[in-house]
Amino acid sequence: MEDRVRDIEQAPTPARMLMRGAIKRCPNCGARGLFTNWFRMAERCPTCDYRFEREEGFFLGAYVMNLAIAQGLVMLLAVVPTIVLLNADADASLVPAMVGGLIGAVLAPLFFYPFSKTLWVAIELTLRPVDETEPSDVRPGRPERTESAAAVRPVR
Ligand SMILES: [Zn+2]
Repeated sequence: MEDRVRDIEQAPTPARMLMRGAIKRCPNCGARGLFTNWFRMAERCPTCDYRFEREEGFFLGAYVMNLAIAQGLVMLLAVVPTIVLLNADADASLVPAMVGGLIGAVLAPLFFYPFSKTLWVAIELTLRPVDETEPSDVRPGRPERTESAAAVRPVR
């Protein structure tokens, strides 16, 4: 109840929502603990009850964002070093560039995975705020949720 009151009093600005998303917090209320492990995000915010996946395929944007980051890192850490190394010395070892490629293509997407999801939730919430046309189970602020996803309880 206290969190709900705080949410109403301080409606998050787009910048605040994006900052919260960038640090793996709920963009709507700023709560932590959205992940049960590095790769498993809760369906709903444990504090404000906002349902993160607003529609089927919602997180495609997060995957695309993660892919773009990975490709950018591969360019910076593998492709550019390869060009520079081979331009300076045709017999240069490419091990540093290969390590850079491994970091950019494998480790970085694993690291950014949860951040990309919360950041995508924030981007979506910024560009497309929840309104009355949204299915009722998406809207935040139902801390006493019942088993029925469509049930909405009035706030006491
Ligand atoms: Zn929340």
